Amino acid sequence: MNIILLGPPGAGKGTQAHHLVARRDMIQLSTGDMLREAKDSGSDMGRIVADVMARGDLVTDDIVIGLIREKLQGDKKGGFIFDGFPRTLAQADALSDLLQEQGETLDAVIELRVDDEALVQRITARSTCGGCGEVYNDITKPWPEDGKCANCGSSDIKRRADDNEDSLRNRLMEYYKKTSPLLGYYYAKGRLASVDGLGEIDAVQAAIGEALDK
Ligand code: AMP
Repeated sequence: MNIILLGPPGAGKGTQAHHLVARRDMIQLSTGDMLREAKDSGSDMGRIVADVMARGDLVTDDIVIGLIREKLQGDKKGGFIFDGFPRTLAQADALSDLLQEQGETLDAVIELRVDDEALVQRITARSTCGGCGEVYNDITKPWPEDGKCANCGSSDIKRRADDNEDSLRNRLMEYYKKTSPLLGYYYAKGRLASVDGLGEIDAVQAAIGEALDK
């Protein structure tokens, strides 16, 4: 089963993708994570995308499509979760072609619906574990008091450079201008299911599970 998690920054795509990886043996393909890795490694591509990402603008379609193309050729396990990709109609068309080339289908697109004020709160309080990617929130899910990740024991707390209010406003604008048209696109293709992304993590997880098992 190949699925897309679609929603604005902070909707919980990464958190929910982690659960699906653990529960359904799926593979998470997060273009944001791939781009951050490229940036941290200091590669040519990493240097090109660093400023664009810091501003909260979108990286060019060619770069992210190239990243996804490479990953689709690897192990498929229980299927792919596209997290943060596609973000434009051109990327959506490219994904459709890439899946077809691999003899794969797109089975579902899950929209995580959240309100914009909740996003600002979530994102400015967000941190992730450098060891395993577990997502924490200063208010709703703070780091354990011993400073060690509850999932893997790492004490590497990471805050994203673009998780500040200015960059977030820009990321939201990019979402509404360029990514939200994908909701109509996938609705018309009969693939869209919408889930309330504002509930407790477990409730959202259950709603996604139900949508996928339909
Ligand atoms: P994310 O971790 O998904 O929030 O992505 C972080 C940043 O990486 C975004 O604000 C963009 O600058 C860039 N990015 C990630 N995925 C894409 C994509 N599919 N298309 C264009 N830019 C992307």
